[in-house]
Formats: sequence, C-alpha cells, structure tokens
Amino acid sequence: MNKNVLVTGGTRGMGEAIVKEFAQNGYNIIINYVKSNKKAISLKSEIEREYKVKVLLIQADLSYEDEINKMVKTALQEFGRIDVLVNNAGIVIDKEFGNRTVEDWKQTLNVNLIAPFILTKLIGKEMVKQKGGAIINISSTNGIDTYYPSSVDYDASKSGLISLTYDSAVELAPYVRVNCVAPGWVNTEMNKELAEEFVKEETERILVKRFGEPEEIAKVVYFLASDNASFINSSVIKVDGGWY
Ligand code: NAD
Repeated sequence: MNKNVLVTGGTRGMGEAIVKEFAQNGYNIIINYVKSNKKAISLKSEIEREYKVKVLLIQADLSYEDEINKMVKTALQEFGRIDVLVNNAGIVIDKEFGNRTVEDWKQTLNVNLIAPFILTKLIGKEMVKQKGGAIINISSTNGIDTYYPSSVDYDASKSGLISLTYDSAVELAPYVRVNCVAPGWVNTEMNKELAEEFVKEETERILVKRFGEPEEIAKVVYFLASDNASFINSSVIKVDGGWY
C-alpha cells in the first residue's frame, strides 16, 4: 500500500520539488496551496500522469487555524492516514528593522511557526495512534547563525521551528521521528527580488560558489522521511553548500 505525504505550500519552489520527489518514490500526495489554483491543477495532472500516484489538492491559508483544521480533516477523510508531514510553507517580509511592525511579526509567525505547531499537534496525534510517521520542518540557516536585521521576524520564526522540532520529537516519541532541514540560499521565487550585488556577495560566501536548487533540498527531505534515516530523530541538517 502506498504511503501518504502532506506538503504545505506544495505548488512551487521547494514545495513542488518535495512533492515530485515523494511522488517519484511512490507516495500519494496531499498538496496544500493558498492562491495558485491553476498551477495546483496542472501540477496534480502532471504528477498523476508521470508517477501514477493519487494527488489531493487542498486550498487553505495557513494563517488561519480554522482553515488548517479543515484541511487536516479533509486529508484524513480522503486518504485515511498521513505518514509524512512536511511543514514547508513560509513567507519572508523584507523591511528595515526600524520599519518593521507588530503586524509583520504576526503574519510571519502565523505562517512560519504557528501553522507548523498546529499541524504537528493534529497530525502528530494521528501518527502516534497509527504507531508511525515522520515530520520534517523546513527551517533555514537564518534560524541558526545568520545576521540579517531586515528579516528579524523571519529569523526568529525559523529558530522557533528548530525548537518546535526538538520539543515535538520528545512529545511524539517513540513512533514519530521529527527532523528539520535548514537550507541556505536556494533558487526560488522567495529570492527573486534580491539585489544583484547582494546575490554576488552571498554567492562568494558559499563554498560551492552557487545557490542551491530546490531538488537538492527535496532529496534530503525525502531521505529524512525514509527508512534510511530510521535512527535520525530530533536533528537539524544544514543544506547550504557551506556558507560562511
Ligand atoms: P516560495 O516562496 O517559492 O514558496 C513558499 C510557499 O509557501 C509557496 O508555495 C506559498 O504559496 C506558500 N505559502 C505562503 N504563505 C502561505 C499561507 N498563508 N498558506 C499556505 N501556503 C503559504 O519559497 P521557497 O524558497 O520554496 O520556500 C519554501 C520554504 O523554504 C519556506 O519555509 C522558506 O522559508 C524556506 N527557505 C527558503 C530558502 C531560500 O533561499 N529560498 C532558504 C531557507 C529556507
């Protein structure tokens, strides 16, 4: 029987690469998305055609608890169980430290940290009942050791996600493994507004002298969910090409 994975923010960037990586490995896929109806529908047919697995699309804005609750209910009704949860969706609001507002903080924390908490609570409980599961949180090197005042709330949300990883790994043990991937710079829409000069400087600081590709993150996420990682729990893996 195929396993089922739920990926938040699964229609583009790393989310899309993660969805395809799991589909390629025979998983049925639940794709959460918020806006892009057209993209979601075309991705669903592409995956069903290419990989012959089932795909369920669920539109839900993760800023709202009731939409998250509804999403989990629908996913469980339709697929029966969720074997892997990937908390991938995230936002970054780029603003000077001094111009940042409490609203910016709330918006960022809601999507990047509070939604993963709610999903871990709801789906983790099911995984404990079914005596098995894996959760992978997509944090960032910004959550570990980077220093950009213009993304202070993003950095705090990503540090928080690492704490959530550690705490929920304890809460859900021994049947559910909870791990975290902390990517460095990756070529996705999230970085499309970065100034050319800044990209050049940052590229210089990466040992492999380039940004990563979404597929390079997806492979690590899949590895952490797989039986090859059966003794990896409560860990954070940096995937950043060696940033210094
Ligand atoms: P992206 O902007 O392409 O993807 C983010 C996804 O999150 C999108 O699909 C978007 O629709 C979804 N999303 C945003 N708000 C949402 C909401 N309210 N409800 C549901 N979905 C919502 O960027 P990405 O680079 O693919 O980001 C994926 C994850 O990787 C994010 O958590 C991001 O913080 C993290 N990350 C990215 C980088 C990078 O360099 N790109 C580095 C480290 C970590």
